[in-house]
Amino acid sequence: MRVIVGSATHIGLVRDHNEDAFLVEPPLYAVADGMGGHLGGEVASSVALDTLQDAWRDSDLATALRKANDAVYGRALRDITVAGMGTTLTAVVVEGEEAHLAHVGDSRAYLMRGGDLRALTDDHSLVGEMVRSGDITDAEARVHPRRNIMTRAIGIDPNVEVDEDTLSVSEGDRILLCSDGLCGIVTDSEIRETLTANDDPQTAADVLVELANSAGGFDNVTVVVIDLAPGDAEADPETGTEAATTAEAEAAEPAEPERDPKEPDLGEPQAESQALATPAATPGDEADTSEPRARGGFFRKLFRRS
Ligand code: MN
Repeated sequence: MRVIVGSATHIGLVRDHNEDAFLVEPPLYAVADGMGGHLGGEVASSVALDTLQDAWRDSDLATALRKANDAVYGRALRDITVAGMGTTLTAVVVEGEEAHLAHVGDSRAYLMRGGDLRALTDDHSLVGEMVRSGDITDAEARVHPRRNIMTRAIGIDPNVEVDEDTLSVSEGDRILLCSDGLCGIVTDSEIRETLTANDDPQTAADVLVELANSAGGFDNVTVVVIDLAPGDAEADPETGTEAATTAEAEAAEPAEPERDPKEPDLGEPQAESQALATPAATPGDEADTSEPRARGGFFRKLFRRS
């Protein structure tokens, strides 16, 4: 069995930074969606992925996510310009016939097998909890006014609970990692259809990003498609190794979003003083200020309109 990977990230059509990041460092693959306003989101996702990359071989994957939490949390304490930052982190290590998963936040891992798509992760968000308890549907979650509230993230508290799982994988399986810029906008059935229609993992990744943007591109979108293909692991540098190398370079040095300083902002507060303020909800989220931090609730995307 060999692993062929496609990956793509895009700023979307509304945001002025790409705070998402991904890692393709076989056999480790991960997606992180940073948050925190101003520079915080980009710093959080990149610190988390750097730490994960350094730590995962020395410990189990969940421990590596806890180390990422320490790193992001510590950096936010030391550096006032990124205070309050956090990130999602969804990681998978594919070794032989096993895939080890570790996950915090509302990015997702999916398994596509035999034409069926199933989520491998729970969203650590308020709407995710409401969907699991049967209070609202997936469709309602995608448009819920409080869909941006996270219940768990990397870097927000000194300790974090990490979900972990190990599954058996075999030839023909496809694992998708994505940020909520995809799965919060596009339905699972659209994702399934796109994965079914595009055998090449890089094409599938690119088409999924286009799908998110054609549905509005309301958020940064990041996709990693990991195919377990027949054949020898070393057999095909053209696709396997080459694809991984390209993606690796992108992950190590994410393309800077082009920004025109003269361009008017998108109505989101940009001032540093606001970025550093204690959570003061956006107008539509007034009621959310009462969310107790103690239960893990905090404001995601404080500086974004929802
Ligand atoms: Mn996002």
